[in-house]
Amino acid sequence: MPPGSSGKLVRVTPSAMLSVSEARDRLLAGLTPLDRQVVRIDESLNRVLAEEVRASIALPPFDNSAMDGYAVRAADVGSATMGKPVVLEVSGDIPAGVVESRALMPGAAMRIMTGAMLPDGADAVVPVESTSSPGAMSGVKLPERIEVVSAVGVGEHVRRAGGDVKPGQLILRGGVRLGPPHIGMLASLGIPGISVYRRPRVALLSTGDELVEIDQPIRPGQIHDGNGYALAAAARAAGGTPLRLGIVPDRLEAVVACLEQALALEADLIVSSAGVSLGAFDFVRAAIEREGRLEFWRVNIRPGKPFVFGSYRNLPFVGLPGNPVSALVTFEVFVRPMLDRMSGLVETARARLRARLAEPVGSDGRESYLRAIVTWENGRYQATLAGSQDSGVLSSLVRANALIVLPAGSRSLASGEEVEIWLTGGLGSMVSQTETSGTEMLSVDRE
Ligand code: AMP
Ligand code: MG
Repeated sequence: MPPGSSGKLVRVTPSAMLSVSEARDRLLAGLTPLDRQVVRIDESLNRVLAEEVRASIALPPFDNSAMDGYAVRAADVGSATMGKPVVLEVSGDIPAGVVESRALMPGAAMRIMTGAMLPDGADAVVPVESTSSPGAMSGVKLPERIEVVSAVGVGEHVRRAGGDVKPGQLILRGGVRLGPPHIGMLASLGIPGISVYRRPRVALLSTGDELVEIDQPIRPGQIHDGNGYALAAAARAAGGTPLRLGIVPDRLEAVVACLEQALALEADLIVSSAGVSLGAFDFVRAAIEREGRLEFWRVNIRPGKPFVFGSYRNLPFVGLPGNPVSALVTFEVFVRPMLDRMSGLVETARARLRARLAEPVGSDGRESYLRAIVTWENGRYQATLAGSQDSGVLSSLVRANALIVLPAGSRSLASGEEVEIWLTGGLGSMVSQTETSGTEMLSVDRE
């Protein structure tokens, strides 16, 4: 049994129309995180951490200055004011990275730079702005004495050892997606490599006798395989590794042969486009029904009602509709959460926002995802439709930066009403990938 699938797929009456949330629950029910691999932290952006990270050192590792100024004993400057400055001898100069071996004596100060280690005896820093010689920091020459014009308390402008992180402290839990702050923290702790979950390998097949590869001219009746590329990009944007199996003719044996190919390539998930409706040549559902296991094939969603979920030799299988917008929207609604689960992500909830409708919108009562343009106007989000909501019209999805989510049963909403929106940024920007390499036909990215 492949990792990522516990094989516990729940059977329902295959023809029942499921709600979006029921469908999503069923899709996720059998999925578990994939195996782990160790990567260097500079390769870890957007990967999901598969271990707990505890600090082995303190951050900062030593007491240091938060300002450019003078290390002092707070008690020496307690009475300093503009009218009655306190004069201190300057007995040392401490750049960042240098350890001053001499202790600070009472009545003295040492010039110290931001990030430099505090000398023994010092318990506060007077910023250069609180001395009467603010120019002292810019030149190289160390003044013999300084006048302190305002008092500082013990610990002021000092960053204490362990003030950020204490040794042994739990810093990161497994299951988080690593972003720049996490990577900066790992680097600060001196951790060069970490364990992450393997990227899900997503086998993609485009079914349809009308399809031709993108480098071929189209003859009458033909179209280019847009979905193969759109879905590969969507898989990559969701943290997966796409394996494009290419175009598959509308024949049951051809579909099955392609499923076999996905198995041989050790895919974790198979995603097909088209061939799942009620057309005379829609063989995808039949292939899963006959050779695999069909779990359900209709969901109460617009766009995207014909949506097949099942398995082929224990490999989860998702059959997306062929219309380009249906394919991408159902990927976003259903396949992305599957990839999140396989990637080991713990917090998978999507950021939801609310926007005010700038025009009336309607749907047919299915849970609907409408292509929209959302702008920030007078302190709130405002949504307008991005154009045609026909599931074959890709240009309005290209124009959209958000989806308006209309709940099932909601057929019309007036202008000015509040709606839930997902900011999509082209349906891919929520997790941008680090690698820019294209996906070759049948390329197998063994990580
Ligand atoms: P089907 O689900 O096979 O009935 O296809 C529904 C619609 O999607 C038809 O107009 C197909 O031509 C179109 N379609 C199918 N596959 C693709 C694809 N790979 N790229 C773009 N459009 C497609
Ligand atoms: Mg077709």
